[in-house]
Amino acid sequence: EEICVCLYEFYRSFKDYLHSHIPCRRRDVLVLTPWLAPIVWEGTFSRDILNAQYMQKKLVTGVVTFAVKKYVQFIEGFMSSANKYFLAGHQVIFYLFTDNPEQIPHIQMAPENRLFVIPVQNHSRWQDISMSRMDIISRYIRSQFQYEVHYLYSIDVDVQLFEHIGVEIIDALVGTISSWQYTARRESKSYETRTESQAAIPKGEGDFYYTASFYGGSVAEVYKLTRACFKGVMKDRENGIEARWHDESHLNKYLLYHKPTRLLSPEYYWDAELSRPRIIQVKRMCSVHKNKRRQVIRSI
Ligand code: UDP
Ligand code: MN
Repeated sequence: EEICVCLYEFYRSFKDYLHSHIPCRRRDVLVLTPWLAPIVWEGTFSRDILNAQYMQKKLVTGVVTFAVKKYVQFIEGFMSSANKYFLAGHQVIFYLFTDNPEQIPHIQMAPENRLFVIPVQNHSRWQDISMSRMDIISRYIRSQFQYEVHYLYSIDVDVQLFEHIGVEIIDALVGTISSWQYTARRESKSYETRTESQAAIPKGEGDFYYTASFYGGSVAEVYKLTRACFKGVMKDRENGIEARWHDESHLNKYLLYHKPTRLLSPEYYWDAELSRPRIIQVKRMCSVHKNKRRQVIRSI
């Protein structure tokens, strides 16, 4: 009888534990890739459990962002929202690359976060600014970042965070599924198929389409990724070809043959010009609206 009581007590407390910790499962979306990598959606994880695990390991995460030319105007919105919502309560080092360090507004950092402003040259074409990110990130991983952080994420500066982005994003190699993939206009974002490009993916191949606006992973994996992508960019340049979506095409080629160990749903980067389907339960990070960006780009 005593054993029965014990078992019953155990069962009751376990049930309570499950109810308070295991979120309801999502049945409306894919939550696991065919290579068994989780796809992170709202309602598929308990941030409390993940936070406790992450805390134990005393990890430091880096964020790389570029603000060159007119994009310096996005720094304030990005930094203030990232300070609030990106890995809140954990140590984050922001590496902000800019061609104009004097123009950086004063930024009130969260006490656990740090900011390094790193001068960088500007390129005349925006495509070159975007593509040069891969080269610069890999060089700085080698000379600096590998000694300062365990994980590293690259994020566009023309974005704002609206909800917490927590340790559920932490893994060896992490890609974010493009929001275009979940809309009727998905065809407009597609892989490079011209075989002359290093970013070429044979027709019919490919699984997810990833955005270049938010990716990351362990420093070692991000080093390999950025090196490989920049090599592809350079080889294309030698051959007089530029991939359809620039660095994003090379990123997609890389992630097709080096499968990410974790995928983030488009909740983690939603393109502001697209309307939101029902499966997007929360928009954690969004691009700044295109209209505003067009004004910026036109005035360059
Ligand atoms: N970028 C920049 N200055 C520019 C163009 C691009 O600093 O003139 C950087 C910035 O970090 C931006 C990223 O490159 O977020 C990618 O460019 P963009 O956001 O225009 O690309 P999209 O999000 O439209 O693919
Ligand atoms: Mn952008």
